[in-house]
Amino acid sequence: MVMKIPFVDLKSQYEQLKPQINTRIDRVLEHGAYVMGPEIAELECQLSDYCNVRHAITCSSGTDALLLGLMAHDVGPGDAVFTTPFTFFATAEAIALLGATPIFVDIDSRTFNIDPKRLEEAIQRIKHSGELRPRGILPVNLFGLPANYDQIGPLAKEHALFVLEDAAQSFGAQYGNQSSCSLGDISTTSFFPAKPLGCYGDGGAVFTDDDTLAEKILSMRIHGMGQDKYDNVRVGLNARMDSIQAAVLLAKLEIFDDELKKRRHLAGVYDQCLMDLVETPFTPSGMSSSWAQFSVLSDHREIMIEALAEQGIPVQVYYRTPCHLSKAFGYLGYKPGDLPITEDVSSRIFSLPMHPYLDDGIATRIRSILEGVLHRVSRT
Ligand SMILES: *Cc1c(COP(=O)(O)O)cnc(C)c1O
Repeated sequence: MVMKIPFVDLKSQYEQLKPQINTRIDRVLEHGAYVMGPEIAELECQLSDYCNVRHAITCSSGTDALLLGLMAHDVGPGDAVFTTPFTFFATAEAIALLGATPIFVDIDSRTFNIDPKRLEEAIQRIKHSGELRPRGILPVNLFGLPANYDQIGPLAKEHALFVLEDAAQSFGAQYGNQSSCSLGDISTTSFFPAKPLGCYGDGGAVFTDDDTLAEKILSMRIHGMGQDKYDNVRVGLNARMDSIQAAVLLAKLEIFDDELKKRRHLAGVYDQCLMDLVETPFTPSGMSSSWAQFSVLSDHREIMIEALAEQGIPVQVYYRTPCHLSKAFGYLGYKPGDLPITEDVSSRIFSLPMHPYLDDGIATRIRSILEGVLHRVSRT
């Protein structure tokens, strides 16, 4: 029998944190403030310290965080928002849900993030066509690696666009001396269980240094409230985080930096061990990833996945279908071949197990399996 290892090991993490998590959850059960309890303010204070941003506003999910961020900028029909097609569907979905149009821009082949050069071309193209109002840029820090904000920022300024950083996968990442979640006018993250910092259900947060935007986001999180939730000054959402989820996150934040170190260590071990067998991730200097995923490229992806699965090593493909070719966005009229880098990467990429509770030995096991695959394909 082969020993199956989990892709993400939330059980080992719980074993380690059981007393802290249980105590925190019990406290919520006792005080009874299940919605907007004291854990919410405590967590928001810690999150804003951690990311060095004035305002951290917790909410119900990473998707709702994106909606709140876009709504704070009054995004709506007729607006163009530039984003990457190589992301989880929610990024572009939030734009479309508000009636705006996602403009998909091809990615950099090494970082898998939006390509600033092509972004500039896309902005010019939309400006000249005059059909849509260019409003903002929504870069994603894919797999935990920040996008190129040094180039995105000046472009945004030049064309009077907002920058909304989708940091759903990159909580804990660094860009120079700045933290992820501080790289946009507004930044958003997700605390879905499988993300680098996850709760026990859905959760998210919105970050901004801008007091006016923060006030608007706080209002929209609770039905567009004014003085209180029965004084409705705008149309908003019900997008609060549960107190119990905040309790879980407060316990997990205490060991988060240690977990991040372990992820970075495993990424280094994987890289050393596998770089001659597959294309391993590229990290530009001055950045450090939060390693939500360790994703590699190979022309032999499908047989590699099969061989790994046979030996109990689970692998995921993020993302087989890029957003611009999804059925849901068929109405936008993109065709295969429109965004060639994204399409090439999505045909060759796969992600290896990555979590802080994984032994280094996994890398040599994977190495010998992949060597076997390459040996077989070289003979045929
Ligand atoms: C997970 C994710 C989201 C959505 O977060 P949820 O909490 O699942 O709603 C948005 N964008 C990206 C890039 C993600 O990975």
